[in-house]
Amino acid sequence: MKIGFIGLGNMGAPMAANLVAAGHEVTGFDLAAPCPEGVTAAASAADAARGADVVVTMLPNGAILRAVADEIVPVMDKGAAFVDCSTVDVESAREVAQMAEASGLLAVDAPVSGGIGGAASGTLTFMAGGSEEAFAKALPLFEIMGQKAVHCGEAGAGQSAKICNNMILGVTMIATCEAFALADKLGLDRQKMFDVVSTSSGSSWTMNAYCPAPGVGPKSPADNGYKPGFASELMLKDLGLSQEAAEAVDADTPMGRAALELYRRFVEAEGGRGTDFSAMLPRFETRGRS
Ligand code: NAD
Repeated sequence: MKIGFIGLGNMGAPMAANLVAAGHEVTGFDLAAPCPEGVTAAASAADAARGADVVVTMLPNGAILRAVADEIVPVMDKGAAFVDCSTVDVESAREVAQMAEASGLLAVDAPVSGGIGGAASGTLTFMAGGSEEAFAKALPLFEIMGQKAVHCGEAGAGQSAKICNNMILGVTMIATCEAFALADKLGLDRQKMFDVVSTSSGSSWTMNAYCPAPGVGPKSPADNGYKPGFASELMLKDLGLSQEAAEAVDADTPMGRAALELYRRFVEAEGGRGTDFSAMLPRFETRGRS
């Protein structure tokens, strides 16, 4: 297949590289990041999209996705698929899908879970919204870039699943970090803490697969000076999306709201911007109860 890939950052670059490794012809565009090996660099998003069977986008937010959609939808061939894997608000996902379908394209919102490790190893989970036909067209690519693809429903359903998942992720990362900081103050060895919790009822993906304590558990951004990974400001974005969605449908999400406030303070006032979202642990280490 001819694939256009727009947004080649921490996630997009390894995802595009996996499509190349599987034998697809990939043309990429990013405003700043270089193209990974094997991906042909285009001069613009429109150039990457023109003539493609499928265009995959992996962009920071809904406003950027809409701007890119305005540029690429008019140049894409009828019947081609627009597969957005970014995490964005449900409204943007629905509007971009409507615009694409009105122009004779297939559209899927397909945000992912699994982080940069999952992107590199081709083991992401895709949660998809869109028609059966659009999902079927994108599925072979999901099977290369991931190990699981769930068709969640109509346009926007993938983003709905993603923001619920990431609300759990933000809350559990904070819980894991504050528990490590408490364990430190109680004099507990971090390795022992990991050995117990990772095999007990407090276990979670944040402890077992993405441990925020350096030198403990599998390799994670904590072992790389908390360089993202998944940036704290992206977690802040996702927690904001889940609270916006909760307000829109009148759902009570107090833990999600508390997580949003902690990440907001961390990113805006406590030096968290540009760090991995697991850098909540050094944040808690330096603090007492006040
Ligand atoms: P990133 O910031 O590393 O990559 C985004 C890329 O988009 C950047 O390279 C940037 O230059 C590029 N970009 C911005 N505007 C552009 C434009 N107009 N045209 C072309 N390129 C443009 O972010 P990331 O970590 O790769 O995340 C991408 C998306 O995936 C986000 O929506 C994020 O929430 C989601 N996500 C990230 C992770 C993770 O662990 N990093 C996990 C799941 C989902």
